[in-house]
Amino acid sequence: MPESAVPMLFTPGPLTTSDITRAAMNRDWGSRDAAFVAMNERVRAHLLEVVHARDDEHVCVPMQGSGTFAVEATLATLLGPDHRLLICVNGAYGDRMATICQRHGKAFETLTWPEDTPVDPVAVAARLESEPGITHVAVVHCETTSGILNPLAAIGEACERAGRALIVDAMSSFGAIDIDADTLRFDAVMASSNKCLEGAPGVGFALVRKVALAASKGNCASLALDLHDQWRAMEGNGQWRFTPPTHVIAALSAALEQHAEEGGTPGRGARYQANLATLLKGMRALGFVPLLPDALQAPIIVTFHKPAHPQFDFERFYAALARRGCLIYPGKLTVADSFRIGCIGNLDQADMTVLLDAIAEVLRELDVNLERAA
Ligand SMILES: *Cc1c(COP(=O)(O)O)cnc(C)c1O
Repeated sequence: MPESAVPMLFTPGPLTTSDITRAAMNRDWGSRDAAFVAMNERVRAHLLEVVHARDDEHVCVPMQGSGTFAVEATLATLLGPDHRLLICVNGAYGDRMATICQRHGKAFETLTWPEDTPVDPVAVAARLESEPGITHVAVVHCETTSGILNPLAAIGEACERAGRALIVDAMSSFGAIDIDADTLRFDAVMASSNKCLEGAPGVGFALVRKVALAASKGNCASLALDLHDQWRAMEGNGQWRFTPPTHVIAALSAALEQHAEEGGTPGRGARYQANLATLLKGMRALGFVPLLPDALQAPIIVTFHKPAHPQFDFERFYAALARRGCLIYPGKLTVADSFRIGCIGNLDQADMTVLLDAIAEVLRELDVNLERAA
């Protein structure tokens, strides 16, 4: 799909983008100009539509920066002095939410699972029952640390039954794995431009329940990250408080049109699922072992155990693949030595096959035969 000289990114983001998306950045926009204001409004409305949210209930507030900026802005703004957050942790991104709360002095506690184990909604329900002080629950939809899919619907049901607000880090699932505002009751869903939406990096956003956001004035100690102020200012005149990432918004606008053309979330999810199937089959044939059983694996990124073969050196493996135009990703697990390969971005099964052929070639070059070893 991408031009030959451009590397393909088999990573969790930023990702391989289409020529159309990159071309959308090839002009300048006046941040206060009506044309940009209109495009910004279209993008905000489109992002709500991706999760079937209605704009009388939820609002989309974009935030400059990477996904973490949107997560930090959301937690720092929605959580007030009378709130207590339960954070479900089974990877680095759950941990990061705990760090954010700590920095901002927000009351929180964690429930933790190993990185290869999904969040258990029964345990969440039990904790909510025993701790009436908990007002909010935060969970990562797809934990990109391992690639595991957490059971969002069941966690949402547990929160709704217990009358607690749900905050979802949907960074690596938004636009590829369905989230439906009609069936999932959430106070906030957070994501960014550069993962499954296949835009350029530089903007995050939160889809927030309006009444919760309206009640959050004064909660955020940071000026730049105050999601309430960002919302109020944008509602006032359609403009951003501070310099907007104009080109990134233009790219996201183009990327969202392509997302719709592909059939929205189901269409994009089906392509990623096909990429995943090709990747898993090919890697298993080469002798690699994925961390997760297929039932827990999201079609986003796959963690593979680092082969025990004495000749296998990840740095050399990575560099040899990079020379062939394929960029993979190091592991982030604490439980095992690993590396990761993404199946998201503007890539299809043919691209996954290019990667698999390159991996086979590199294994021969490194004199690593895993089929024999396995
Ligand atoms: C990518 C990602 C983030 C945000 O990371 P940034 O590097 O700030 O964009 C947060 N949560 C999850 C689950 C992610 O995959």
